[in-house]
Amino acid sequence: MWMILFVPNSFDLGVIFKRGGNMPEKELNVKLIQSPDDPIRILYSAARQCYSKDFVGDYNDINYEKAKKLIKSIIKSGHISIIEHLNYTFAIEGISRSESHQHVRHRIASFSQQSQRYCNAANNNNEFNYIIPPSIKNNSEALEVFIKTMMYINEQYKYLTKILSRDIDNGEKVNQDARYVLPNACETKFVTTMNASSLMHFFELRLCKRAQWEIRSVAKKMLNLCKDNCSVLFDMCGPKCKKLGYCPEGIRSCGMMPTE
Ligand SMILES: Cc1cc2nc3c(=O)[nH]c(=O)nc-3n(C[C@H](O)[C@H](O)[C@H](O)COP(=O)(O)OP(=O)(O)OC[C@H]3O[C@@H](n4cnc5c(N)ncnc54)[C@H](O)[C@@H]3O)c2cc1C
Repeated sequence: MWMILFVPNSFDLGVIFKRGGNMPEKELNVKLIQSPDDPIRILYSAARQCYSKDFVGDYNDINYEKAKKLIKSIIKSGHISIIEHLNYTFAIEGISRSESHQHVRHRIASFSQQSQRYCNAANNNNEFNYIIPPSIKNNSEALEVFIKTMMYINEQYKYLTKILSRDIDNGEKVNQDARYVLPNACETKFVTTMNASSLMHFFELRLCKRAQWEIRSVAKKMLNLCKDNCSVLFDMCGPKCKKLGYCPEGIRSCGMMPTE
């Protein structure tokens, strides 16, 4: 109830919806900006060097079909250190700070995230971009509360920026403290690099139905991009039940797989 009280009087949801595309809701965008040119060669060379007296650096002609068979059998046997030689770099935008907070918990990865210190959150329309969860988007009552709250925060963020700018003659220092009022819904962008082993683990956890919808949709897009680069490896990736053949989540299981 208290939230209704501090929403600006000028607020009119109809006006916001009529603006359509101008709403600062941001769509998910995942791009693979760096991937191995010849992943099979890398995997095959790493695998063969373990068993061969030869120097794999001298291999010129690789039988790709034979190489794929060897790679599959090694990965199925669980000797997956060879896949650490494959590195993938993604540029991701249109995600919430909530998603990025979950994403950066994956420590076997490198991250470079847009700073709310160096970048003021306001877009060209002087509003911060945000992500709307589907459960809220599909519920008109919840959506109204959500958008009113975003509008209110936006106004207060701008106002706070203005107040702080009176005393602080430094944009970064203003941004770094004004950002404390920004919500989890606030849109962010980052670049991340992971090796294929870390990615496989990420997919096991984040494609599981227990993971939240947002990081699951990011993980799905990342996996599809990886499959385009090296299907022999990434076709084997998925939620952890795919590898285990059962679900270890006990009473929290989605029911797709037996729990034992
Ligand atoms: C459905 C779901 C719910 C979650 N809920 C919560 C929650 O409520 N609260 C919360 O805090 N987190 C939560 N998490 C996050 C979770 O606990 C992990 O932090 C996150 O999934 C990263 O997994 P990871 O540590 O295995 O991955 P990474 O950090 O990428 O590590 C990969 C693997 O490397 C090894 N490793 C990495 N660092 C170390 C280390 N320091 N010591 C030993 N081994 C290491 C481990 O084997 C680890 O599995 C949740 C995750 C999921 C998927």
